[in-house]
Amino acid sequence: MDLWDDYEATYRERTAGSEAAFGRLQEDVPAGVASTYRAWDPYPFVVDRAEGAYLYDVDGNEYLDFDMNNGAAMVGHAHPTVTEAVGDQLHDGTLFTHPHELLGEAASALKERWSMMDKVRFTNSGTESTMHAMRVGRAYSGRDKVLKIEGAYHGVHDYALISKAAPKGQVGHPERPNKVVESDGIPAKTAETVEVAPFNDLDAVESILEDHVNEIGALIVEPIVLAKGVTQPYDDFLQGLRELCDEYGIVYIFDEVKTGVKVTPGGAAEYYDVEPDLVTLAKSIGGNFPVGAFGGREEVMSVIEDGTAHYGTYNGNPLVARAVETVLNDVLTEEAYDHVNRLGQRLADGYEEIMADHGIEGRVENVNSVGMVLFTDEPVEDYRDYLEHIDVEFHENYWFGMLNQGVLPHPHDASQQWTISVQHEDEHIDEHLEAFENIAPRLADEQA
Ligand code: PMP
Repeated sequence: MDLWDDYEATYRERTAGSEAAFGRLQEDVPAGVASTYRAWDPYPFVVDRAEGAYLYDVDGNEYLDFDMNNGAAMVGHAHPTVTEAVGDQLHDGTLFTHPHELLGEAASALKERWSMMDKVRFTNSGTESTMHAMRVGRAYSGRDKVLKIEGAYHGVHDYALISKAAPKGQVGHPERPNKVVESDGIPAKTAETVEVAPFNDLDAVESILEDHVNEIGALIVEPIVLAKGVTQPYDDFLQGLRELCDEYGIVYIFDEVKTGVKVTPGGAAEYYDVEPDLVTLAKSIGGNFPVGAFGGREEVMSVIEDGTAHYGTYNGNPLVARAVETVLNDVLTEEAYDHVNRLGQRLADGYEEIMADHGIEGRVENVNSVGMVLFTDEPVEDYRDYLEHIDVEFHENYWFGMLNQGVLPHPHDASQQWTISVQHEDEHIDEHLEAFENIAPRLADEQA
């Protein structure tokens, strides 16, 4: 049996209950999932519960989890400190549509981590955070266009779904990417308000800015493009963008929905020592509760006080404010970062060693708690490199080979990355590496 057939057969054998449950879900919910990314072939396993570093499916299989809710669970699952704090809040009210002091506590905890952040507004997701940050950026600059990076993901609103994952045949010139609208239902005209530039190419960005002087009012960047593995910025790219934004009068937005509080306490802004004007957040700031935020310099955020719309019934509700404040003050402590960063490096080093021992072509890209194995020796510095060098089908073999051993190495898909949580321990890294060691000979054969 070839490798894929073998892995698929094993997966099906282990997950018959999931197949049946997923079939029932498909009758009620489009594609059987609550977010379309979550549907994959042959069918996703169906979760029963989660605790600590583990997920459990309806067949009773246990998964050592490095997916961690698409990176939203740096605290791990059901962290006792967060559960207790939020549990207390349940009895004191979960929604006040009036001001309350927990809002200030959660905002202060974020401001302590991002020195450029004078004011913060809470939202309910990363999508809302980037949508509002873009609006604030446009309002402040008085210009209608936003510049985004090809292949970067900023959520699901219309302005974000341009050239997020353009098919190979449609991408256009590498220095002047086509603007590809990803979804039906998004007016083609939306693309007239967005320009698209390649990552890690300052000259290309500058040339696009020159062509759209006084049109582009905001530039949004994932400082590490975690929509495509772990694509890191090179050669002062992020600082170079800072300088271009100053020169052209553009509001500089870091989308730290995935990097925020993960790569350092103060996210990518701290890691790369670059000061954006606005930062967008969600995921790991909330300890698995649905929350987002955006914050930044006083004069930029003040457009909200001057009438730029940011509203929402559930914004900053006390339940999630309590979760955010607890995660930031009590769980993601200095010691927690030391622990997670050490485990992240152990995992990366272990992969490198196993690949070298078995002659597997590949390497790890990692920044503290986030990392990814890339089965290529070629550089991946932008979206085009990703399309060119990542063998998505080969990666699928690796992923199912791990899953069948009860290790979920990262969210489904080669474009994702692992998250080390505060509830992972050395023994979990050992278990993860042992599973990789077990499949390494077959992966090496398959690659040969
Ligand atoms: N920005 C980035 C960088 C993201 O990774 C994501 C989600 N993966 C979003 C925005 C959207 O966040 P949400 O799914 O909470 O809407």
